[in-house]
Amino acid sequence: MEPPIYLDCHATTPLDPRVLDAMLPYFQEHFGNAASHSHVFGLQAKAAVDRARGLVAKLIGADPSEIVFTSGATEALNLGLKGVFEAARRKGDHIVTVATEHKAVLDTCLELEGRGARITRLGVDALGHVDLEALADAIDDDTILVAVMAANNEIGTLAPLADIGQITRRAGVLLLTDAAQAFGKIPLNVEALGIDLLAISSHKIYGPKGVGALYVRGHDPKVRLSAQMHGGGHERGMRSGTLDVPGIVGLGEAARIAAEEMASDTERIGSLRDRLESRLLALPRTQRRGDLAARLAGNSSVTFSYVPSSTLMMQVRDVAVSSGSACTSADPSPSHVIQALGASKEEADWTIRFGLGRFTTEAEIDRAGELFEAAIGAIRGASPRWEVANRGGVDAGS
Ligand SMILES: *Cc1c(COP(=O)(O)O)cnc(C)c1O
Repeated sequence: MEPPIYLDCHATTPLDPRVLDAMLPYFQEHFGNAASHSHVFGLQAKAAVDRARGLVAKLIGADPSEIVFTSGATEALNLGLKGVFEAARRKGDHIVTVATEHKAVLDTCLELEGRGARITRLGVDALGHVDLEALADAIDDDTILVAVMAANNEIGTLAPLADIGQITRRAGVLLLTDAAQAFGKIPLNVEALGIDLLAISSHKIYGPKGVGALYVRGHDPKVRLSAQMHGGGHERGMRSGTLDVPGIVGLGEAARIAAEEMASDTERIGSLRDRLESRLLALPRTQRRGDLAARLAGNSSVTFSYVPSSTLMMQVRDVAVSSGSACTSADPSPSHVIQALGASKEEADWTIRFGLGRFTTEAEIDRAGELFEAAIGAIRGASPRWEVANRGGVDAGS
């Protein structure tokens, strides 16, 4: 029996062994509380947190004082959205976002709507891009914030953040970006891009789960944020609670490695992704999603017509992939992202997301390609609809 193959790196990534090595001492010898400044135990922990803060800040061109550690991107996005809404209430109540955002943004916006916020949710084109003119037009006198993700977690499409940042800057509104998938995978610079708030997650970049951060711009303009967690005043009052020192050290190390290996990882992972796609796309009635010219290297989202994703995933049990996003896999309805591209519910249900990563091998890609090819052939072979569609006449899929 060969071991299962992991191609679900948008849901989470395996821990890099180097990250684990960096974390281990902070569980035992260096167990101090980073807020205890009166003794060496606490000071050692604080020094480790400071170093990690510097590494995270450096990767996005921020100042270490602008990084607020959280339990992950979900919490960072909640803090950014709710925190800005509460702090800017006198100024306005309008938030502009996009239909293809992660649930951490969409559900938080829904919650804010219940608290009196006005939310505009913009649609996207077939590649997953928001129309920039529509975005500019959506901003009005009451707009306080625009939230657009840096890289989509299902189709990998990269947003033109520099253009969006120019629009928000000119309009004098804040720009928040969910960079859970982009941080550590593509170059990001908050100054060059005009980003005011940016959410990251450690476990998407080979770090531990349960850690993340929110970048909060400290100058030009200084972002005002209402805390969502009150207590000891940690993280400059923006997020109270004893810091997860080993987790933060892990995030820092993951960021350090990402900075060093981003270019080579992107090249290697991208070529493996292309190898997988060239095989899968050779199958008939198969369609690739996302923007091929601006896409995460590890992402491939493919619609196999007449092949329900749940049936396919049952057949290919040895390869871990996903239909839609894992975060909503409790919800059986087809992906809101694929449908936002203009696909039908059925086409969305025929779509599989492959997520390759740093530890994916060529042998794994070849075996996965073989298993998928065989399973798709078998499922279609047993499908009366497939037979009808291929006899000509009916063309329900693409
Ligand atoms: C994973 C993910 C999140 C949530 O991050 P957590 O750290 O797991 O809370 C948010 N947005 C996107 C785009 C993601 O991929």
